[in-house]
Amino acid sequence: MIPLVPKLLFMGKSPFFPSLEDQSATLLEDPNAPSQLDGVGVGVGVGVGVGVGVGGGITASQTAPLSSPSRSSPHSQGSETGERFSRKVFVGGLPPDIDEDEITASFRRFGPLVVDWPHKAESKSYFPPKGYAFLLFQDEGSVQQLIDACIQDEDKLYLCVSSPTIKDKPVQIRPWRLSDADFVLDASMPLDPRKTVFVGGVPRPLKAVELAMIMDRLYGGVCYAGIDTDPELKYPKGAGRVAFSNQQSYIAAISARFVQLQHGDIDKRVEVKPYVLDDQMCDECQGQRCGGKFAPFFCANVTCLQYYCEHCWATIHSRPGREFHKPLVKEGADRPRAVPFRWC
Ligand SMILES: [Zn+2]
Ligand SMILES: [Zn+2]
Repeated sequence: MIPLVPKLLFMGKSPFFPSLEDQSATLLEDPNAPSQLDGVGVGVGVGVGVGVGVGGGITASQTAPLSSPSRSSPHSQGSETGERFSRKVFVGGLPPDIDEDEITASFRRFGPLVVDWPHKAESKSYFPPKGYAFLLFQDEGSVQQLIDACIQDEDKLYLCVSSPTIKDKPVQIRPWRLSDADFVLDASMPLDPRKTVFVGGVPRPLKAVELAMIMDRLYGGVCYAGIDTDPELKYPKGAGRVAFSNQQSYIAAISARFVQLQHGDIDKRVEVKPYVLDDQMCDECQGQRCGGKFAPFFCANVTCLQYYCEHCWATIHSRPGREFHKPLVKEGADRPRAVPFRWC
């Protein structure tokens, strides 16, 4: 059990599991592949009158209300100092004939940037094939300037961009707010890594608060949710983790194996599995039969749900009914151990 200081928790941010490099390597999906939601908004607003004529298609599906403290306007926190956004920004609904140089030129006034999209290097295409791209700014301040230049429609941001054939097309700008990577739902509960699940294939716009609410609605007892971000750009990698306050909710979540994440534009089946730690002792022998080394195996079968050394794994799983259990193994055992407490 990792007791968290309540004072920190009430600040709405938790340092729980800051690094999950290894877990995301076991995703069912390529975390770099576009999530189902990427590209939502493409084409919306084209030719819809003056200015940013969005509405209809996008907002009609936003019927699932979630009380999210992070729904406030991106403009409203301008007085704060320090980094607030990832330097990586999603741009959707680009004109189909806009090339990389034209995209760069469209956003260069906010500061130095690189334009990227999934599989850009391999495809050798000059155009983002699905009408969306990522802007990788050199400075975080550029993102704030970009946001300030945007037109806001409900909770979405738009900026007009021109291509050789289309003038002033509103494209969706989706910055990632750093504070959306963590959310504490129940600050009274200690965060127990052994009641924490790994969620793979999370749609990238999903905020921690939304993941927490969805999982709480499905299984109850959620005390924390986190969205994994890459250490350099601090942009979502497409995975997350959810800590439960009780064993029943935890078991219900991992027994499901897959969960349908539905919220607003998002409707995606994602993978749920136990969050495996790499610094646990064998639950059977407490290290006595394995020279005190950390247990290399975790059995995710609900009849086990334990860490095992090699010796104890073999012993326990030779018993009838357990022969077919498969270990969840951490990949790359020599990578640095995650520090459970650190402000990101
Ligand atoms: Zn053992
Ligand atoms: Zn087992």
